[in-house]
Amino acid sequence: MSFWSEKGSIAEQCWKNGHPDFPVYDMHGHMGGHYAIYFNRCEPAAVVEHMKRAGVKHLVFSHHYALWEPTFRNERVYEMCREFPEHLRFYVAINPHYPEHIKEDLAQFDRWQPYVVGIKMLAGYHQVNVTDKKYEYALSFANERGIPVLNHTWGGRGHYNDGPSMLQIVQKYPNAIFFHGHSIFGDYEYAEKVVKESSGKSYLELTAVCGENEMIERFCSLVGSEKLLYGTDMPWFDEFQGIGGIVAAKISDTDKRNILCDNVERILGKEW
Ligand SMILES: [Zn+2]
Repeated sequence: MSFWSEKGSIAEQCWKNGHPDFPVYDMHGHMGGHYAIYFNRCEPAAVVEHMKRAGVKHLVFSHHYALWEPTFRNERVYEMCREFPEHLRFYVAINPHYPEHIKEDLAQFDRWQPYVVGIKMLAGYHQVNVTDKKYEYALSFANERGIPVLNHTWGGRGHYNDGPSMLQIVQKYPNAIFFHGHSIFGDYEYAEKVVKESSGKSYLELTAVCGENEMIERFCSLVGSEKLLYGTDMPWFDEFQGIGGIVAAKISDTDKRNILCDNVERILGKEW
């Protein structure tokens, strides 16, 4: 059976037109260069051109420099998004080593609408566990407002954002919406647990998972496609690879649409 060419299927749309005929939301991206890798495109204009080719309506990103370089503040990321209002949205990059910056930046959250979507934590790289009190201010802010928190998460133990740590924070902040970046990669027992034992506001974000054989199928049966979100870590991975991974998975078109579009519209609405 050649499911990819079934008439009217999402796969057929992609193979024919290069993208699905509904908007795709990439919920995990970055911007700017990185010392560890060469990126073919990592500045807004080139990224947006690429999004258009792949049919991605919005990319929600945190800027590499805002995550690591204390003189590069989230205000600059807001300005970047304003230049591409149709396509770019951002997460406030949280650096636990600069508590004053966290407070100052979150105080701008309302002024940064509609471009700001939530907050981004990168505990494994900042080497401060997600359960540490250094994140309390930001997580309480997200909890009070019921906004998304994208965490970098990874399997194994002692990674600052491992399964048991994530379970603790989803239970401590039940009103925040948690996007578990990389789906607690490799620790799928905890990925399932975190989704099922949270208040219902936990989603597995699929960056890095899209290239794993049969993982999307497995997650659909473990937690259901309503709990999965599409993401690429753009520019670390490519939109075509990510969308291709979802579209080629042996799951229903309803599942594919949930992952690429509908779940996000249920969380954030159609206009954001
Ligand atoms: Zn990332």
